[in-house]
Amino acid sequence: MYQAPRGTQDILPEDAHLWAFVEGVARRQAALAGFGEIRTPTFEATAVFQRGVGATTDIVEKEMYTFLDKGGESITLRPEGTAAVMRAYFEHGMGSRPQPVKLFSLLNTFRYDRPQKGRLREFHQLDVESIGEADPAADAEVVGVHWRYYAALGLRGLRLVVNSIGDALCRPSYVEALRAYFEAHRTELCEDCNRRLATNPLRLLDDKTPACQTILDHAPASIDHLCEPCGDHFAAWTGYLAAAEIPFSVEHRLVRGLDYYSRSVWEVLPANGGAQSTLGGGGRYDGLAEQLGGRSTPGVGFATGIERILLALKEQRVEVPAAPGPRAFVVHGPGIARVQAFQLAEHLRASGIATDLALGDRKLGKQMASADRSGADVALIIGEDEAAAGEVSVKNLRGEDGGEQQRRVPRADVVAFVAEARP
Ligand SMILES: [Zn+2]
Ligand SMILES: [Zn+2]
Repeated sequence: MYQAPRGTQDILPEDAHLWAFVEGVARRQAALAGFGEIRTPTFEATAVFQRGVGATTDIVEKEMYTFLDKGGESITLRPEGTAAVMRAYFEHGMGSRPQPVKLFSLLNTFRYDRPQKGRLREFHQLDVESIGEADPAADAEVVGVHWRYYAALGLRGLRLVVNSIGDALCRPSYVEALRAYFEAHRTELCEDCNRRLATNPLRLLDDKTPACQTILDHAPASIDHLCEPCGDHFAAWTGYLAAAEIPFSVEHRLVRGLDYYSRSVWEVLPANGGAQSTLGGGGRYDGLAEQLGGRSTPGVGFATGIERILLALKEQRVEVPAAPGPRAFVVHGPGIARVQAFQLAEHLRASGIATDLALGDRKLGKQMASADRSGADVALIIGEDEAAAGEVSVKNLRGEDGGEQQRRVPRADVVAFVAEARP
């Protein structure tokens, strides 16, 4: 038989309520801070990501699902959310709306990567973006949503690390300072680091090779090279975080993987995990709009992986609200009883009462076992006897009496009876 493609997964009903919970909390937290939902297409013109994510990133160099469609257009399955949201911001003239435009989306994303725990080729994200406002309070507002989201899910012991990587004015001199430092340690650095040194020295800072760590730890820090406006922005941003009692620490090696970030960057990590287990991260991307060919427009946002969150919920044994079972389960005898049972189930459903029904030719005992397993509150039994009398036997499956209580109710009254008799 066929299998789901490598790096993808099926989400089965028994897990779907977890997804609904995680997504529901996301919608609630986004709405609490005034973020509206946006849904962009699953694929975009390849240039959106080449220009929007950055040509020298791992994503664009190695991980994108890119193909020519039948019309010869180069199409890419979205590897992240921000570039497409910015594309939509311009396409729909959102620059003329009150700024910032605050948007969130729950989306599937695609990266051709080696699949591992919590890291799939098709994965899912919550993306939150605030576009059109340079005020550091916008950065803090977005971090607030990010931080409260995990708290509302019930995750504990997380760490928020922050940094500023400056802007187009001050970053070049920082990159030069980095380059000079790394050049001096060239022979001690791994092959990957040496290769990146030529293209993007910032990228060395998130290298994971053990032998490189000491050198990377002692590299020049970007916050020591900020111009005055960037320094002020960082001070104001972290001041707002402190005012909101959001705990954070400054991590000078945090630069984030995407080229479009400027000034604020942050990540949220589990208490006992390293950078590989990052739950989510974000940053300011004031240069992105122009890279996409739009008017200079500031923006700040974050993304957090849903699969990683589900792993963290499991690891921390967070109790998630259980999926509700049906309220009623209809079991029946053969012949006319069976038709009456079907009719009753449909009446209950039309009345807004979640109802399941035994199908096929199973014996009453087997059907009752199915009713027990279904998690229903009551079994509604139409045997030959009940069918002839125009009645239904109602059996309480959850009562304190151990589920022994059973009574006959006229068929016409069953909907009202089930609706009223809460367990
Ligand atoms: Zn290295
Ligand atoms: Zn600057």
